[in-house]
Order: sequence, then structure tokens, then C-alpha cells
Amino acid sequence: MEHVNRLQDIHALGEDGIRELMAEMGQPAFRTKQLIEWVYEKNAQSFDEMTNLPKALRAQLAERFDFMAPTELLRQVSQDGSRKYLLQFADGVSVETVAMPQRNKLSVCVSTQAGCGMRCAFCATGLAGLTRSLTAQEIVSQVVHVARDFGERVTSVVFMGQGEPFANYDATIAALRMLNSEHGPNIGARHLTVSTCGIIPGIRAFSKLPEQFTLAISLHSAVQSTRNQLMPGVKKYTLLRLHEALQEYTEKTGRRPTYEYAMIEGINDTDPEMRALCDFCEGTLCHVNLIQLNDIPDSPFKPSPMKKLEELQRRLEQRGVETTIRNSRGNDIDAACGQLKQRITGFKSQK
Ligand code: SAH
Repeated sequence: MEHVNRLQDIHALGEDGIRELMAEMGQPAFRTKQLIEWVYEKNAQSFDEMTNLPKALRAQLAERFDFMAPTELLRQVSQDGSRKYLLQFADGVSVETVAMPQRNKLSVCVSTQAGCGMRCAFCATGLAGLTRSLTAQEIVSQVVHVARDFGERVTSVVFMGQGEPFANYDATIAALRMLNSEHGPNIGARHLTVSTCGIIPGIRAFSKLPEQFTLAISLHSAVQSTRNQLMPGVKKYTLLRLHEALQEYTEKTGRRPTYEYAMIEGINDTDPEMRALCDFCEGTLCHVNLIQLNDIPDSPFKPSPMKKLEELQRRLEQRGVETTIRNSRGNDIDAACGQLKQRITGFKSQK
């Protein structure tokens, strides 16, 4: 274990750091540009790949730096082409990442924490609790891993894997900026989406960012007592306060937040629940995504029948609220929303 971690993550240098390093190593200025390209644009994961750098320089760099690329422990491939990876970081902690290819698009769902502390009653990640938050580089490295695996550019990223992004706010924003950077994956801000269970200070800070990142809110019920039961971790951020914070968000940014609503039989698909959701949304700038709850083994919660989703969509649209019924992807490999649980048992490798 002793020699582990003595190397520094090359990504942490940033462009200025790389410039200083090249100067310090007596290298000509054009090496800075080459090294930045390899590290941030081409996503190199070893110095050996950097064939336009002299061998001696590559060896010197390798003595001091590495790429902190996660190790792929396992992967599963869905019938719909989605891939789920179990990726392990230097300290042995692992998270799940999901890649969803579609025509000429490639979306990635990243984790922001190993585990999650929010305890949502219907979510598999929540059951195991929080292990630790990820660093910005660890969040970005999941995207790099997928880009390399598919040999394609990643076109959008959703922060909807394990963890609560706004319980790891600074690393989340730093990762968004790295993904957005033209010296990096260069993904447009609108194609970068953060999903939160409704941590209000996070929403307020997010509203003030100059970038047009997209915001999604896990709502799941517009009835306070039901929401408290489903999402006990955000009890103190009441629906009233949430409504206010989102009003402020839309006024400030002019952007439309998305509400995620996973329909659970007999819990949030009843007539009063539907009415409460319509009231919550009516007259506000928002988009509602309805999905059927994904079944978690041993859970008392069951998915609502499709006709309930259709009924709720109809009712929302009658009240002028744009609504989409979403299909879950990767369900056959437990890669769908709320099913990530970094448990190795039952996670069969298809590599
Ligand atoms: N902590 C963030 C990010 C997790 S995103 C958040 O709460 O938004 C994952 C999305 O899947 C969230 O909307 C979450 O509420 C939802 N989800 C969790 N378990 C689910 C399940 N069993 N079925 C459907 N959606 C679920």
C-alpha cells in the first residue's frame, strides 16, 4: 500500500499548472499545448499514448503523475444497448455509471457520491447509506471512461446516478464546468443536467450560475405528508419553500426546471395526489417527467399501471403543464433510475 497514491493526478494541474510544469521542466512552449490536448481533449490515460512527446519526457512525467482513471470492476450490457459499469477509485470505493447510446447520441448518467445519505424510501441507493462524496475529477472520469469505451463523443450527461449532487455541491459544479470546458469533453451546458431531491440552498446557488446548466427536481409527491414519507431526507425543505425557490430560479434564469415523478401504486397516483401535483405546477414554468417506479426487490412500493400515468398526463396537460411519459432504459440490467446499488452479488460480468 505504501507506494500507492504518491503520484499526483495530472488533471488537477489545470492548464496553468501544465504550462508552469513544462517551463519548470525546461520544455519548449509548444509542449504545453500538446500535453493539454492529451490530458483534457483526447482523454489519454497513460503517458505512453502521447506519441508526439519525447520518450524521456513521458518517462519523467510518469514518475510524478498519473491519470486517476477508475478501474472497471464489472459491466453489464442491456438489450437496448445501455451499458452499466461498476467503477472503482484509488481508495477502493466504487460507484455505478450508466451509458445510454441512441442513434448518434451518447448520454451518460454519472454518480456524484458513493451511496447516498438522503434515504428516499423507494430508492435502492438510499438503502445502503452514504460512503463518501466523489471529487470533481472522479465525476468527470466516469464520462471519460464511457467516451473511451464507446470510442465516441459523449453528447449529454445527467447527474442522476448514485448520490445527491447538492449534498456535494462544489465538486458537482466543478465537474459540470470541466465537462463544459472547450478544453475537455466540451459538452454544451444545456446538455448537462443536475437532478436534486430538492436541497434549497443548492437550488438557490445554482440559480446564480452564469452557465445554462439544466435543473431537474425529484418531486414524487406534491402532498407534504406523502413526500415526507417518501423522501425523509428533505423534510425540512417543504413543498412551500421548494415552490418559492423554483419560482425564483425560473425568474432569474428564464429556464424551465423538470420535475421527476415516479408513479407508485396507491401512494402518489390517487385522485388527491394528482390534483395536488396539478396545483403545484399550474402557472409555473416547468416540465413534468412521469415514469413508472422501477421495482426494487423486497420493496413495499409497486409501480402504478400505465393507465394512471396516462391519466395524470392528461390532467396536467389540461392545466397547461407540459408532460412526458418516460420509458426507463437499462431495466433488464438494473441500470434504471433508483436501481443502482453497487452491490456485486447479482451483478454478472459480461466482459
Ligand atoms: N439524488 C438526486 C439524484 C438521483 S437521480 C435526486 O434525488 O434527484 C435518480 C432519480 O431516480 C431521482 O429522480 C430519484 O428520485 C429516482 N428514483 C429513485 N428510485 C427510483 C425508483 N425505484 N424508480 C424510479 N425512479 C427512482
